[in-house]
Amino acid sequence: KVRVRFAPSPTGPLHIGGVRTALYNYLFAKKHNGDFVLRIEDTDQNRYVEGAEDYIVESLNWCGIPFDEGPGKEKGFGPYRQSERKDKYRAYAEKLIETGNAYYAFDTAEELDAHRKEHEENGKTFIYNWHNREKLKNSLSLSQEEVQNKIEADEDYVIRFKSPQDKTLHLKDVIRGEMEIDTNILDDKVLFKSDGMPTYHLANIVDDHLMEITHVIRGEEWLPSLALHYMLYIAFGWNAPEFAHLPLILKPQGKGKLSKRDGEKMGFPVFPLEWKDPKSGDIAAGYREEGYFPEAVVNMLAFLGWNPGTEQEFFTLDELTKVFELERVHKGGAKFDPEKTKWFQQHYMQEADDDLLADEFEKQLTQKEIKADKKYIKDVVALIKERTVFAEDFWEQGNFFFVAPTSFDPKDSKKAWKDDTGNLMIELHEMLQEVENFQAENLQETVKSWIKSKEIGFGKVMMPLRIALVGALQGPDLYKIAEFIGKEETLKRIKKAVD
Ligand code: GLU
Repeated sequence: KVRVRFAPSPTGPLHIGGVRTALYNYLFAKKHNGDFVLRIEDTDQNRYVEGAEDYIVESLNWCGIPFDEGPGKEKGFGPYRQSERKDKYRAYAEKLIETGNAYYAFDTAEELDAHRKEHEENGKTFIYNWHNREKLKNSLSLSQEEVQNKIEADEDYVIRFKSPQDKTLHLKDVIRGEMEIDTNILDDKVLFKSDGMPTYHLANIVDDHLMEITHVIRGEEWLPSLALHYMLYIAFGWNAPEFAHLPLILKPQGKGKLSKRDGEKMGFPVFPLEWKDPKSGDIAAGYREEGYFPEAVVNMLAFLGWNPGTEQEFFTLDELTKVFELERVHKGGAKFDPEKTKWFQQHYMQEADDDLLADEFEKQLTQKEIKADKKYIKDVVALIKERTVFAEDFWEQGNFFFVAPTSFDPKDSKKAWKDDTGNLMIELHEMLQEVENFQAENLQETVKSWIKSKEIGFGKVMMPLRIALVGALQGPDLYKIAEFIGKEETLKRIKKAVD
């Protein structure tokens, strides 16, 4: 059975890169009727940030990609927070020592720094591995007794992986294919620290194994760790899962990884939800609060490093689940385009349920102390939504359905209002007074033939009429507007504009 996991560290809000990783894991799991596991990798207590785990869970839920298994959803592989699995890891580190795949090292940070400096002065880089591990302070160079004494004397130590010498590793990645790595360039990574905590590498491999993860889908920044992870699987004698490393998400302009700062500088969110930093109190923008629909965000993220190989651009989660394939994920970095997200948003605005949009608009109207019939609000929304991207735009695009314009756009008025317009509008007012049926279709017919009979251009009437009803040369079909606000209000507004 396919089992994938999303394994964030709760060190802050979830960046859209993280959400994309979660989404691809989710899609892959659902496609194969598998399980999508959430594992919280919180072994680094120094980097732990209050509220980050809740934020992660809420983000996944908002996107519509909830986890099947994880904190609070125990399915027999828990606990799902590494801090609660603490006591499991030591035995695995010790097992590696027993089998000669790991060793204790007592070098202090200062000593390691000194080695690094010395190497640099000789134009070399210091790698803690077979090159020099025999000369350093560890259980491969000290006698067993010395090691025992140091441990008993409570000296700080770490357990390091003993990476092999002169071997070529063959690594496989579903997206990148096969890779070869010379083990001589690898350093002996720390697996376990004397504070009783495993490092990311050990905990990650042990948990993927114990949780029976079949596919590891994660960001490209973990590709350099793949060699070590492979070696760990070999050292433990376990089968390695399949790996897929997702391409980097790049800045919209220039080079490099997309960062929070790019969003701040260029005014687009990089977080799914708003994030309030618990220390500084700073608030970072989120897609949800900016008015984006989760469907738009998910559709945008799906295309950030993947394509279906067809012309289809809009996908529901269900559709994505059917067509998603890891093999179609790109190798190269994916440029983030905030405008594209807006474009998806505009599309989903047209698809959105008018009842829900009307609820939203009603809230905005209530805030302005405007009361209106729900059905009316809904009809207005249906009429104006093609001009909107966010629900927030409703007021700007539709205020005149609820209140008469209080001012007239000077530029538009100048364009629309000529010397003879006043008289023309008075005539129009008289004519409309006689019209019984104020339905848009009938109005259109009546007004059109009236204009024709006067042998004048349409703009001469329609432009000032629009100014009178809307206050500017914008908005949807004018006859619809007149129908919506009704005869009495239409006449009132024409009169007011003439005065
Ligand atoms: N805890 C790692 C992270 O925060 C997980 C990496 C992985 O998926 O192996 O991204």
